[in-house]
Amino acid sequence: MTSRFAGLAALVAALLVTGCFTQEPSRSETSATPIKLDNVDWKFHGNDRGETRFAELSQINTNNVDQLSLAWSVDLPANRGQEATPLVVDGVMYSTSAWNHVFAIDAATGSILWQYDPQVPKAVVVKACCGPVNRGVAHADGVLYTGTLDGRLLAMNAQDGSLLWSVNTVDSDDQYTITGAPRVFKDKVFIGNGGAEYGVRGYLSAYDTQTGELIWRFYTVPGNAGDPTGVEPVAAQRATWSGQFWRFGGGGTVWDSMALDTETDTLYFGVGNGSPWNPNIRTQGEGDNWFLSSIVAVDANSGEYRWHYQTTPMEAWDFTATQHIILADLVLNGVQRSVLMQAPKNGFFYVLDRHSGELLSAEPIVPVNWASHVDMATGRPVVNDDAKYWITEKPTLVTPSWMGAHNWHPMSLDTENGVVYIPTQETAFPYFAEDDQQPTSLAVNLGVDTKAATFPDDSGIINQIKSATKGFLLAWDVANSKPLWKVEYPGAWNGGTLSTAGQLVFQGSAAGYLYAYHAATGERLWEFPTQTGVVAPPVTYSVNGQQYVTVSAGWGGIFPLMTGPLAQDSAGEDASNTSRLLTFTLSGDAELPAKIEISKALPDTTLLELDESRVAAGAATFDRFCVNCHGAGAVGGGVVPDLRYSSTILSLDTWNAILSHGALKDRGMVAYSEELSEDDIQSIREYIIERNQQARAEGKVIKYGL
Ligand code: CA
Repeated sequence: MTSRFAGLAALVAALLVTGCFTQEPSRSETSATPIKLDNVDWKFHGNDRGETRFAELSQINTNNVDQLSLAWSVDLPANRGQEATPLVVDGVMYSTSAWNHVFAIDAATGSILWQYDPQVPKAVVVKACCGPVNRGVAHADGVLYTGTLDGRLLAMNAQDGSLLWSVNTVDSDDQYTITGAPRVFKDKVFIGNGGAEYGVRGYLSAYDTQTGELIWRFYTVPGNAGDPTGVEPVAAQRATWSGQFWRFGGGGTVWDSMALDTETDTLYFGVGNGSPWNPNIRTQGEGDNWFLSSIVAVDANSGEYRWHYQTTPMEAWDFTATQHIILADLVLNGVQRSVLMQAPKNGFFYVLDRHSGELLSAEPIVPVNWASHVDMATGRPVVNDDAKYWITEKPTLVTPSWMGAHNWHPMSLDTENGVVYIPTQETAFPYFAEDDQQPTSLAVNLGVDTKAATFPDDSGIINQIKSATKGFLLAWDVANSKPLWKVEYPGAWNGGTLSTAGQLVFQGSAAGYLYAYHAATGERLWEFPTQTGVVAPPVTYSVNGQQYVTVSAGWGGIFPLMTGPLAQDSAGEDASNTSRLLTFTLSGDAELPAKIEISKALPDTTLLELDESRVAAGAATFDRFCVNCHGAGAVGGGVVPDLRYSSTILSLDTWNAILSHGALKDRGMVAYSEELSEDDIQSIREYIIERNQQARAEGKVIKYGL
């Protein structure tokens, strides 16, 4: 079979299959006009409006994927986590990197056509839980749209990258950030934001594609009753909240998932966790707190509420429902249903009727101990009393943890077989209430004492968490609500997935590989060493009849920033970030340069004397203000330098220059002189010195990797 014929067969198969999916009107018109064989685009964030991430291409398939090899690579301009889904339109790839660089690339050759740096102030990164990451652009009618970490929404000419308009979508005095990709539908572009851990109130906005004018805004959390923006989209919403939740923002940020049903003009979006996590502080331990942890359906034109389904009423564990949403038409129990599917952090896989919001099934995809099951009569999880840490007032090891059974890494659907491929993880965290917490800027506001999980001071807890943490690719049979197969990885935080008509599933790993699996069996058919952890989802497309697979490689996100030893289990102790866009094709002839080895000697701090009580105070302050980027126990996860190996700890003057005066603010490390006293800042240094000395005692002298 010639490759051209294979492409035709794939397209014919695709037209048969995709008739039942949510499509653009222009796509269905295509079937009546001559089929353009040469180029197959990846036009929308999830490939189609229903975000299936299924590609109708089979030139690369189970028989020949072993010949898949590098066609080209492009070095990305920022060595932080790379999470973007590239779009490909008419042979041109549009993508973003960390720090919001935007670029256009010849999708066949890798030549850069233009690039644009929106000059995001580096200091903004302290508002971002999860690093200066970005998940990509939207494209429509020759215009690109993208959000920036500092809250802007940009419209750019796709031809040359020139800026058409820019609007600020947030109050810059608040701790909002944008990491998600916008979506465009008709004359509107939709964008949300993040920041729940830092005390914001979530919303989704629709802007005019031509002018950037705000058309509508949907608040997921009620406002202060006296606030003119305190309007609730649904009258009953406020009655589900108690107390002065607005002092903490309430959370409910819309930081990632959206999907569109273009037949009914319905926009679906996923809503994040509560702020703070502890519901005693947030809502006096009362009420469901709509629309936290919910899937919300609105009229895409007006923003008017249609329905919502709350996956975790009175959310308390950072169980966001911002995870990837897929729309599809599937046969369930012999009946054709228009469904919406999501695997949120809380460990269940939900199938809903996307027209009515009716719950069709909710089955656990990992061991879950916070709830026994979801009651299908009420649609509510039956929460185990032990998991209610705000009542029990003792540390409770809850599974899944705030890392989720599934985080932002997109899943994909094999449309022909009704199988969803989910980047899944088993995780656990000891939740312990901290009731007296007050809102503080530049610190996470959880109402949960993270010291209960401090690595590695209590080796019992850390060992429990480490042994409970696993990562795997799960093939989930939707109709039968059971696993078809699963493949285990060394640890958690592996990449998003891609499904193709070539019966393949592609996924990158934290440990630095891109893999292709047989969709039916899970057999690993191909691998490529990417030299860095891959968290982004691959895409596929064809140009001039040739199929390509692309992934944005670059280790990062909250897991390597915050979890130190767990991240090392996943990515290795020598993990680092070498960010590149990698593109593969059959018989590609490009090669990567040799991997750059990074090594560092542990600074000798043996002559520095420490005061035990100051070390303990420093540990507590570190856990509140520093741990989100510098890792539990100050153990580096391969994205920012491991502080135990930093020579900055040797000099008090250098330490103060950085922490009090912002000497490294241009690299994102801002001054903390307003939030922390001089004494706090010095005690953090003593804690890091103690961690350095522990590493020395463990025989760690040279570190390979960041
Ligand atoms: Ca969160």
